[in-house]
Amino acid sequence: MGEIFFKIIASSSSGNCAYLRARQSNVLIDAGISPRRIKNARKELGQTLENIDAIFLTHEHGDHCKALETLPENENMAVFASEQTYETIVCRHPETQKFKWKVFTPGQSFSFKDLKVCTCALPHDSSECVAYKFLAREKSISWITDLGKPVLGAKDFAKNSNVLVLESNYCPKMLQNSNRTLRVKRRIAGTHGHLSNADAISVLQELDPDFVEQIYLAHVSRECNSVEHISDLLKVLPEKILQKIEIVSPFDGSKNPFSF
Ligand SMILES: [Zn+2]
Ligand SMILES: [Zn+2]
Repeated sequence: MGEIFFKIIASSSSGNCAYLRARQSNVLIDAGISPRRIKNARKELGQTLENIDAIFLTHEHGDHCKALETLPENENMAVFASEQTYETIVCRHPETQKFKWKVFTPGQSFSFKDLKVCTCALPHDSSECVAYKFLAREKSISWITDLGKPVLGAKDFAKNSNVLVLESNYCPKMLQNSNRTLRVKRRIAGTHGHLSNADAISVLQELDPDFVEQIYLAHVSRECNSVEHISDLLKVLPEKILQKIEIVSPFDGSKNPFSF
């Protein structure tokens, strides 16, 4: 393995988790799946649950943090979250107070071992959702999911990323035709819900095809979207961008890990 290794273990409304390793850091981005599944995925990569240095949480929704409820305490592991996200999680699950929390304000940048971490506030129906941009060696990796609209900060992260994980959650027609309640439909499609396919494509259209190296379209809805439907829509993009995209199946992790 090289200097950097990045793999999405799972991404959908039923759980999100990715693994990023740099020379001195071994971290997770979100932990919305069971500790057993994290453990198994790490085992395949020659890693253990115990050698996780940090978890970077985007927000308190269960599909992003549910592992914390049952994950054993590990004094060598830090848990990063925005202040409001932290407060909401420990209030709902007091047992998570045992972790070594590192709290920040959205928009703040900081360092963790050999990673530089930038954060940006996202419009979502949670206390204080964030996107992350990690700089490791000379590569930048952004994680942008759970946002109702493509805000400037998110677009800026996307444009400045060698590796981009971007939400492409729903197709408006499939959402309308689904048997979800009107309230849920409005929530998902609202400005504090999730990113539609069209909004995700509008972000991709602004990328520099010579700078971006790998794109993962993630947090794809199982009921209101499909990998096939997204690939049809992507045809409007330039070939140079198109060949760098992997649509992450909502039933599995990413197939092509990024390594450098
Ligand atoms: Zn989510
Ligand atoms: Zn969410």
